Amino acid sequence: MDVSQRIMRFLPPQDLLNFVKSSKRMLEHLTMDIAVMSSLFYGKHPYQSAKNLHPHMLKRSIYPLNALRVLMILAGSTCEFCRFYYNNEKNKTTCVRPNFGTKICWYCVKGEAKSGMILCGRDNIPPMTSAFYKLIAYPYKPEYYLNQFYIANRDILYKIFEHPRVLSYPYGVRFFSYDEEEGVMTPANNGEFISYDQMEIMWKKETKDGFGNMTGPLLPRSKLNELVKYMKTTDGSNEDIDHFLDNKIRNPPSVQDYQPFLDAYDRYIQRATEREESRKRIQASKKHIRHYKKIEMAVDMMSLIISEFTIENISKWNNETGRVFLRRYSKELQAEAFTRLLLLYEEAPFLAAEYFIKFRSGNASLDVSLHDVLGKYLKKPSMFKEEMAEQTAHLLYKKCRFELMKRCNSMIYNDNGRLDRCRVRTDFPTGTVYTGARKRSLHRNRFEPWTDTSAKRHL
Ligand SMILES: [Zn+2]
Repeated sequence: MDVSQRIMRFLPPQDLLNFVKSSKRMLEHLTMDIAVMSSLFYGKHPYQSAKNLHPHMLKRSIYPLNALRVLMILAGSTCEFCRFYYNNEKNKTTCVRPNFGTKICWYCVKGEAKSGMILCGRDNIPPMTSAFYKLIAYPYKPEYYLNQFYIANRDILYKIFEHPRVLSYPYGVRFFSYDEEEGVMTPANNGEFISYDQMEIMWKKETKDGFGNMTGPLLPRSKLNELVKYMKTTDGSNEDIDHFLDNKIRNPPSVQDYQPFLDAYDRYIQRATEREESRKRIQASKKHIRHYKKIEMAVDMMSLIISEFTIENISKWNNETGRVFLRRYSKELQAEAFTRLLLLYEEAPFLAAEYFIKFRSGNASLDVSLHDVLGKYLKKPSMFKEEMAEQTAHLLYKKCRFELMKRCNSMIYNDNGRLDRCRVRTDFPTGTVYTGARKRSLHRNRFEPWTDTSAKRHL
């Protein structure tokens, strides 16, 4: 093993591809072993791509790949068949498509461009796949037409579509009715039996890559009729399909062409899988830790805001708005009520939650006001700075005071003679935070779950 190969063994697939492309000399040193190893060990998309490619190489259902092509389709990030741009970025394709064993974008599969896509001088995308229709149906018409070629060669076509080396995928629905006297199923537009195979989606035609090598599935749609014709001249067994694929297609590959990839894959897959699993575990635990750190930051923020609800601050805020006179116990009442309100938070139960903590105070409009003021910090707790606490508390006070005090029943303690102490009752029934359409409808209908009369009843 020479020096450049030693270096190649330590490179991630993208770097290896650039390294190899730099000169012809380097290209000569690239082996299948290095290409497969690099893809399996470094990076999740190349690993998944290699896993998607393996069954096709094992079954020999696609044309074999050489080392450079393996590296290119496993490590590359774009579609093999187009150079389209979307939103000023190259149309990205991360994985080898498991259906066809090629790296192909969805737009090339369907032959439909997305609006806003730049097609580099073309009017449309030529589809790389083609459907074999068993019956042609129109969605809003009761009519359908049977494909007579299909009806005439049903046995042979069934064998071909079921063959492991033929890549075809059923799609669409067709209905059958059952004739009890004859004991046969016949297509019928109002039949009660459904079969999910109105068409078979296949690769469209023989394809070459940029180097002039054959690529893609061995049997494209364009070769289907030829195979059916060939099957009619033989006794129509599965071996005949194999014989056709081994001899009668363009540049038929041999069994040995697939062996280097399979050997390299078998050599590394077990260790690579262990490595990939441990990588996933570490990533998941890091995500959890990040999530809980965010929750801690949000709770920290709440404690800072709560500490600003003091009697001095409340006097100050009231003086600013001209409400000079407020009894001491009213201020205490307000401070306590806000403290209790802000403690009615709950942590986000799942990782994909929008808010890291959110409020369920039992009153919809209060929750909405709280989320109006605090929402952006509850989504991104790192945005909140310590010096913003007083300002935020003031904002909350202005926004929620009326709504909150309306719902806090106060009673003066007179059993122990402490007339200046008050009791705050904030044990609201549990409710939910309304957002979006529900929130707007609440505002429209002025839905008030707790009216003043019902509050009195609880006293
Ligand atoms: Zn494409």
